[in-house]
Amino acid sequence: MYEHEDPAPAAPSRYDLLVVGSANADLVVGVDRRPGPGETVLGSDLVVHPGGKGANQAVAAARLGARTALLARVGDDAHGRLLRDSQREAGVDTGGVLVGGAPTGVALITVDPSGDNSIVVSPGANARLTPEDIQGAGALIAAARVVSVQLEIPLDTVAATARSLRPGTRLVLNPSPPAPLPDEVLAACDPLVVNEHEARFILGVSAGGTPEAWAQGLTALGPRSVVITLGAEGALVADTRGDGAVHVPSPRVDAVDTTGAGDAFTAALAWRLGLGEALAEAAAFAVRVGAAAVTKEGAQASFPTAEEVAAL
Ligand code: ADP
Repeated sequence: MYEHEDPAPAAPSRYDLLVVGSANADLVVGVDRRPGPGETVLGSDLVVHPGGKGANQAVAAARLGARTALLARVGDDAHGRLLRDSQREAGVDTGGVLVGGAPTGVALITVDPSGDNSIVVSPGANARLTPEDIQGAGALIAAARVVSVQLEIPLDTVAATARSLRPGTRLVLNPSPPAPLPDEVLAACDPLVVNEHEARFILGVSAGGTPEAWAQGLTALGPRSVVITLGAEGALVADTRGDGAVHVPSPRVDAVDTTGAGDAFTAALAWRLGLGEALAEAAAFAVRVGAAAVTKEGAQASFPTAEEVAAL
């Protein structure tokens, strides 16, 4: 069973960005060392953060000032309420957040003294966001200029989202965690946004190559445009309607924590594309957002406002 919190919107372009994706509670405990099989260790006090790539992108866009909605599924539980509250606080329209069917997705994270994470993800309600849910959200999808998806929800649901778009609505896909993508999904991407690891996975190359070569290989698979994020080096963008790949450098910053940087980058890029900017122009804004995000700890907590981006 699920409920819509708000009636579905009807007006065209009510939203600059609709994010279709995951919402997780990140449960974080510090440990001196990880337990072996059958062993128990004591850890620090539990810290709970809202997370999941979909929820992260929606918060990142709304914090920049984008009119943003989230289409996701959470459980009818405390973690689901935490996620909806954190979205609303950031200014995200949560009318498309479906409730029930399974517990809210959680990431169980232990952090050791060297800062390394070990993570178990229970997808929970994210795995129950179905193609039928996408069909049921036709009015919400029709009300967005840009729709952004990732792969923490079922691939069938991602494909249903791609099929549901009206001509003129742009699809931005970040294939994370990487999985083989159907041709119809690849062909709908404008752009496909990948980091080096995701680029290599999709191309099936484990070593060597250059970002320019990966961009060429990826565009040959069908997307109308490709963006490869390059950490501190910024991003490489390639638009099949333009002339060749363009490197967009990132501002130099003191990186503190890169968690969520890719989500902030992709949300910013998607928003600015929806405003009509060209790919390189939108990416020039997005690298500033990504760079601002790495200057603070955490994912959602690190996402900048438009003023903070301007001040960078
Ligand atoms: P992901 O987090 O998905 O692996 P990246 O590490 O490529 O993706 O980071 C995404 C974006 O965040 C980059 O394109 C860049 O704009 C910004 N970014 C990441 N790391 C840094 C850094 N050390 N300095 C400045 N910007 C960074």
